[in-house]
Amino acid sequence: MSLQNASAALIELHDLVKTYKTGDVDVKAVRGVTLEVRRGEFLAIMGASGSGKSTLMNVLGCLDQPTGGSYSLNGTAVAGLNRKELARLRNRKLGFVFQSFNLLSRTSALENVELPMFYTDPLISLRVRHRRALEALRQVGLAERGGHHPNQLSGGQQQRIAIARALVNQPELVLADEPTGNLDSRTSMEIMGLFQTLNDSGITIMMVTHELDIAAYCKRIVVMRDGVVISDTRNENRRLAQQELAALDKAEQKARLA
Ligand code: ADP
Ligand code: MG
Repeated sequence: MSLQNASAALIELHDLVKTYKTGDVDVKAVRGVTLEVRRGEFLAIMGASGSGKSTLMNVLGCLDQPTGGSYSLNGTAVAGLNRKELARLRNRKLGFVFQSFNLLSRTSALENVELPMFYTDPLISLRVRHRRALEALRQVGLAERGGHHPNQLSGGQQQRIAIARALVNQPELVLADEPTGNLDSRTSMEIMGLFQTLNDSGITIMMVTHELDIAAYCKRIVVMRDGVVISDTRNENRRLAQQELAALDKAEQKARLA
């Protein structure tokens, strides 16, 4: 029987600690974070370089185990899982987006998007694999670009492909570490618009950014310093990227006609 329900927390962190042991020095990257994230949230994690944001994301993404405290994802205590179970949780429940896109350059966009399915469904048929990858490309507005290679696409398009790859196994949670860090402001706005649309469709999103302009599109803003959370606030008047983009388009059109 499952005790999980829509209102239960997706993520529960209690006094989470991550210490890196490098030689004789211990680096206390995360020093006791307690945080609850519910389904449907859209969080920005902010903080200066070195404050522990990426370390926290790696633990949340089950890429790294904490050294203290507890983490439960979707009601499952992550600390009790073995490598195989961790990988399973990661592949089925989570999607990852990175600052540098991390696409395979000699591989088409469609094949890049298909990759996560090799881990979850190794025996999946070619036809089903193509159909699911195409559907993910459609979700990011690039269904017609599947045959292109990453170097034939703009930075914004490459990030959309990476987002499609993150979506292809229909994750509950998307973790994005500075996803707009390599993009200009207009393209960043487009990516935030895409995230807002995905979040509206029910996907929980946590993203790291050090730009307040970007965090302004999220529903909740968590700020870290020296490995701890120093503020956690709801963003009541969040920016709406689609509206802003439409207004920008209109202004540009007007300028062209003038
Ligand atoms: P942020 O993403 O906020 O810039 P990080 O989580 O990358 O911060 O880093 C937090 C601290 O942990 C920093 O002092 C960093 O040098 C250290 N750190 C990060 N990764 C490692 C690692 N693999 N080994 C040792 N120290 C690390
Ligand atoms: Mg970082």
